[in-house]
Amino acid sequence: MCNKLRILTALAILAASLSCGDSPVDLAGNPTPSFLTIQLHSDSVVYTSWTQCSDNDFDAYILWRSKSAGIQADPSQAQAIKIFSSDPLQLTWFDSTVVPGETYWYALETRNTSVLSAWSNELSLTIPLNEPENLTVFFIDPSHGSLSGDAMLIRTPNGFNYLIDGGDRRSDWSCGRDRIVPMLDSLGIAHLDGIVATHPHSDHVGGLIAVLEEVPVYKVWDCGWTGDASNTYEEFLLEVQASGAEYIEGSRGMTLDWDPELQVEILHPEPNPGSGDMNNASIVIHLEFEEVSFLFTGDLETDDGENDILSSYAAEDLQSDILKVGHHGSSTSTSSQWLDAVDPSYAAIEVGSGNPYGHPHGEVINRLDSRGIPVYRTDLDGTFVITTDGTDITVF
Ligand SMILES: [Zn+2]
Repeated sequence: MCNKLRILTALAILAASLSCGDSPVDLAGNPTPSFLTIQLHSDSVVYTSWTQCSDNDFDAYILWRSKSAGIQADPSQAQAIKIFSSDPLQLTWFDSTVVPGETYWYALETRNTSVLSAWSNELSLTIPLNEPENLTVFFIDPSHGSLSGDAMLIRTPNGFNYLIDGGDRRSDWSCGRDRIVPMLDSLGIAHLDGIVATHPHSDHVGGLIAVLEEVPVYKVWDCGWTGDASNTYEEFLLEVQASGAEYIEGSRGMTLDWDPELQVEILHPEPNPGSGDMNNASIVIHLEFEEVSFLFTGDLETDDGENDILSSYAAEDLQSDILKVGHHGSSTSTSSQWLDAVDPSYAAIEVGSGNPYGHPHGEVINRLDSRGIPVYRTDLDGTFVITTDGTDITVF
C-alpha cells in the first residue's frame, strides 16, 4: 500500500468512528461502548439503562451480572442475563431475578457484526432486605411405602431458604425429586441458601441427592462422618462436590449466619465423628427468632447423644418452644431428662406412615402426652407447617 492510500484508509476509519457521535475514536473497529446506569426500581427489581450505540455494524447488547467485581476481565464468573440482538434502541431492562441481601455487579457488552466487543462501565448494587416476615418451618411428610426419614424446609424472616435433611429414596421414587422440589417450585423458591445433612443415613441424605441435582444450593453442612458409611452417603458427597456448593463440616459451637433476624447454633456433634452410633453423629441445631426457638435433633439417641448435650449445656440454653423429636419418635431418644431441659410447647415428629420400626414408639408419645405437649406427626397429619412472628406460634 502506498503512503497516500494508507492515509486515506486511516481517514476513512476515523470518519466511520466519528459517525458514532461523541464516542471515542477506535481505529481497531470495536463497537462504541455504552454508558450503563442502574438503580433499584422496587424491593427486588433493578432498573438498568444504557446509552445507545449508533454504529452501523451494531449487532447486540449483552447485559451481564455477577456476584463479584471484574466482569470484563472474567465474564465466565458472570451471567449473561439478557441478550438484545439487532435492536440498538433497546436501552432498558428490569432485572427481577435478584435476591434480597445480595450484592450484584452489572456491565453491558456491545458487539458488532464482526463479533468485536466493547464494555460499558461496571456498577454494583446491594438489594435491600425486605421487611422481615415470619419464620416458617415446613415439616415435610417423608412417607412413601415403607420409607421414612426427616425433611424440613425453613423459610427465614428475610426470605432465605434452608433444608434440613431430604428424606429417603428408592429406585422409583425420591423424597427430594418427587416431594421437595415440587414444593420449592410451588413456593417460588429457585435456589436453597443451604442444606443441612444431619447424618449419613439414607432416610436423611437419600432425597438430598435429587435436590442437589435439580436446585442450586449455596452451602451444605454435613457432620463429616469419618467411619464406614453407605453408598448413598458416598453418592451424596459426590453430588455435593458436583453441585459446586460450599461444603462445611458442622460441629458443636458453630454459629450459622442464616439470617440477621435469627440466632442459629450447632450443639452437636464434636468434630470428626466416626465411631459408635451413626445416629449420634447427628447435627443438632438450636434456632431462635426473637422469643421463639426450635430444636432440630436429627436421629440423636439418648445415650451419648442427648446425655452428652445435657452435660455440656445449661438447661436454659436448650429450652425450645418447638422440639423436632429425635429419631422419628424412637424410644431410644427423647428421655424424661431431655424433655425436662428442653421443655417444649410443641413436639414435631418426622416419620413415615408405613415405617417398619413402629415409630413413633408409644413410650415417647406417652411421655409427651403426660406433659400436655401437643404432638404433630407427619405419619398422621401429612406435611404440616409451624410459623411464628417471633412471639406467637401457629401450626397448620
Ligand atoms: Zn432417620
